[in-house]
Amino acid sequence: MELLQALNIFVTGIILGSFLNVVGLRLPKNIPFTTSRSACPHCTTPLQERDLIPLFSYLISKGKCRHCQLSISITYPLIELITGFLFLLAYINLGLSLEFAGAILLISLAVVVTVSDINYMLIPNKLLLFFAPSFIIFRTLHPLQPWYDSIYGALAGFGIIFVIIVLSKGGMGAGDMKLLGTLGILLGLKLTLLTLFLATLIGTVVSLTLLSFKVIGRKDPFPFGPSIVMAAVISYLFGFDLLQFYFETFFLGGGETIVSFF
Ligand SMILES: [Zn+2]
Repeated sequence: MELLQALNIFVTGIILGSFLNVVGLRLPKNIPFTTSRSACPHCTTPLQERDLIPLFSYLISKGKCRHCQLSISITYPLIELITGFLFLLAYINLGLSLEFAGAILLISLAVVVTVSDINYMLIPNKLLLFFAPSFIIFRTLHPLQPWYDSIYGALAGFGIIFVIIVLSKGGMGAGDMKLLGTLGILLGLKLTLLTLFLATLIGTVVSLTLLSFKVIGRKDPFPFGPSIVMAAVISYLFGFDLLQFYFETFFLGGGETIVSFF
């Protein structure tokens, strides 16, 4: 790992994070995200060039609109920073490998889903119609072993949430089902199952925390998409280590056979 290379990737993540945030905010509302210029959400003054540098513009303007002085949401620089750190984490873990390219695709999807689902309780179909073929192309160039594990992953992701939706009568949405199905292409069967398990864990912890701090009410809808994509990123980067650790810790003795099964 080279330091300069790492810095480069971190900055690229910050810049791309700024773009992905815009995609997450605009795609569900069908606003083009390449042509129309960003504007202040309060006074709708179009932002100038110097306001469009990711992270730095926010720091320089101290989080306020130059025109109306109202504060700009901290989520903008936060999402840019998080994207930068995730890119860096993927690089440290995978190096400049083909799997790293898969991680960049996955992190990009994760950021847009998080922004869109938190703001609109929606995971746009158009987004999945871009990423599902991207994952298929990626897994054609760099297949899982065996290659049809991608199909198992997609079917499991789609199928299990379908069953949950039917049984719970709407505990999860169709968007979550299509999302986990899409992720399954990239992840394969085992990591898709791990993703669902971790997503449930993350979703439960986060929603209980938000409930206890009264950020959300008992009857408020809770977007599950961010938990799914966070779990998918963890599974993709650390999944097999986690599975091995789990089975070695809880199935000492018989662990060897189970680990070799995985
Ligand atoms: Zn303004």
